[in-house]
Amino acid sequence: MSERPERFIIDGKRLDGRSFDELRPIKIELSPLDRADGSCYLEWGRNKVMAAVYGPRELHPRHRQNMTRAVMQFRYNMASFSVDDRIRPGHNRRSIEISKVSREAFEPVVFTKFFPKTAIDVFVEVLRADAGTRTAGINAASLALADAGIPMRSLVSACAVGKVDGEIVLDLMKEEDNYGEADVPVAMTVGEEITLLQMDGHLTPKEFYKALELAKSGCRQVYGLQRQALVEKYNKDYSVDEDDARSDAGGDSDE
Ligand code: UDP
Repeated sequence: MSERPERFIIDGKRLDGRSFDELRPIKIELSPLDRADGSCYLEWGRNKVMAAVYGPRELHPRHRQNMTRAVMQFRYNMASFSVDDRIRPGHNRRSIEISKVSREAFEPVVFTKFFPKTAIDVFVEVLRADAGTRTAGINAASLALADAGIPMRSLVSACAVGKVDGEIVLDLMKEEDNYGEADVPVAMTVGEEITLLQMDGHLTPKEFYKALELAKSGCRQVYGLQRQALVEKYNKDYSVDEDDARSDAGGDSDE
């Protein structure tokens, strides 16, 4: 594990030179895996994650089938080589928790009722981890689901906020995540319905609401990049403009 830095903010800038409300650079590649129904490779700062979606497909064993809707299954896994200290392969408490909250982040948006008795399987493999892997995995999974043509009410966009040296900052990198005062991963729909909210550490109510607003602005930026990636792949003639994205954000309809 890296050493705890003496300070996280020097001359108004963070250790990697970012301002408080700045995301790390994000790079998205759609459909890198031709054997999956949908896939997405995403880099976020020094995180590298791959998401693959299979389905809707018949769910086995059959006693796990639901007669009225598809069952979503989400498996988050961190590769042994993704961190400094090798991780033991296989499920652990952390990966089970992240898989559960990630699945729940999608349950409100996926039209599972269209596909009774089936499974929609989402796999997220973290190839390199540098804090924020659950949010990176959710962003990649969202695009992989869209790439697979799974009907959804909205994309899901995620990012974390936190507190370091008494300041609320967007998108924690490893040192900030490991040694900061708070870490709050958030995921939301384009209509700003929150589908994941967790908190490690301590924030006052005032700090919490400030952090939430900052997280929402981060998610909106992520959404812009997700949308741009989809438009570039699936509709090259369609130009993405800010006004379109904003009107989408207000236009999230109910099922
Ligand atoms: N980490 C690690 N080994 C582990 C789990 C996590 O080194 O077994 C590191 C990794 O860099 C990860 C960070 O700790 O990104 C923060 O982990 P956390 O559980 O907060 O999840 P994340 O912030 O990645 O969503």
